[in-house]
Amino acid sequence: MTQTKTRKADFPGLLNADGTPWHYLDSAATAQKPQAVIDAVTRAIGADYATVHRGVYARSADMTLAFEAARRRVAQFIGGQEQEIVFTRGATEAINLLAYSYPDKGRVLLSELEHHSNIVPWQLAGWQVDVCPLTQDGRIDLDAAEAMLTREHTMVAFAHVSNVLGSVVDGKRAADLAHAVGAKLLLDGCQAVPRVPVDVVALDCDFYAFSAHKLYGPTGIGALWGRADLLDTMPPWQGGGAMIDKVTFEKTTYAPAPQRFEAGTPSIVEAVGFAAACDYVAEVGIEAIHAHEADLVRQTREALRGMNDVTLYGPEDSAGIVSFMLDGVHPHDLGTILDEEGVAIRAGHHCAQPLMDKLGIPATARASFGIYSDAEDVAALIRGIERTKRIFG
Ligand code: PMP
Repeated sequence: MTQTKTRKADFPGLLNADGTPWHYLDSAATAQKPQAVIDAVTRAIGADYATVHRGVYARSADMTLAFEAARRRVAQFIGGQEQEIVFTRGATEAINLLAYSYPDKGRVLLSELEHHSNIVPWQLAGWQVDVCPLTQDGRIDLDAAEAMLTREHTMVAFAHVSNVLGSVVDGKRAADLAHAVGAKLLLDGCQAVPRVPVDVVALDCDFYAFSAHKLYGPTGIGALWGRADLLDTMPPWQGGGAMIDKVTFEKTTYAPAPQRFEAGTPSIVEAVGFAAACDYVAEVGIEAIHAHEADLVRQTREALRGMNDVTLYGPEDSAGIVSFMLDGVHPHDLGTILDEEGVAIRAGHHCAQPLMDKLGIPATARASFGIYSDAEDVAALIRGIERTKRIFG
């Protein structure tokens, strides 16, 4: 990617209070925000602020236009249509919506690497859960999925990119396998949207869930993309204002999708910020981001492989995420020492306890990259690990 330095300068969150750089390697948890997003959010909550859809005054009409333009922008970002984007609080709510509202609840095929938010909603909503194993190098084993899928499966729900291993699933093949037995495919795109090119039409998936905050946008908003004919079959899951056609005490009729799924005043400001984040990422170029992060993953894995007391997880071509363990050091201790060095990593089970059980470990340390990450961040990480090794002797 060109001008990484310049990109770093776009992100005020990457500086410590004293002006020194903060080596932020936790973008898979949440990404820092570029000034363009901060400015868009500031304008939307300040000078431009008003409610949407109901106001009879010009400011509200303008805000409604901006809100619906944001829906179009987000749809376009993943190759979808605006009427196929349901705004949610985030990926978690998007998956809950689908698990509860999808009318043909049967068996769902998940995988061993799923985030809790792509496990628990299916359990809560009463689906029969089956679990596809992983390959040796930490990918969803699609050969195994093919062998497991039956006509009883009505849904397959896989992480497009694993938040722990960084492995990328072949979404098109997963869609073909699901469709061959009459099931639908949800891809949990939380980690994919910020780091790999996503086109829901080319993927041929049926649903796609993601969060704005991992895509350099605000918290509190995300989206469920769903094929229009499928969203039309789904009943509302939360009642309230804005999702209705006509309400009486005897009977209520509902608005068409996507409004039917958006009860209450929406996250107006956040939607504007979401669209600004899409603009920013598109301007940098998702292909360039993907290549840039792949380069940083290579550098990091190479440096860690050079240490004989480090175990690396996930495939070589992980997208933007490196999980590892340092022998004899709990990842939390490593994370604490790295913090003293100005390096922020994630340590823990990453909301993927079944994957930790499968790997036979309680936790990993995870470095994850973003648009703004660079070789100096990797070098700081490696220095911090070397220091930790000295401390632990
Ligand atoms: N799926 C994956 C793969 C994730 O990484 C995350 C966030 N860590 C989620 C789902 C949930 O996203 P959110 O908390 O933004 O709803």
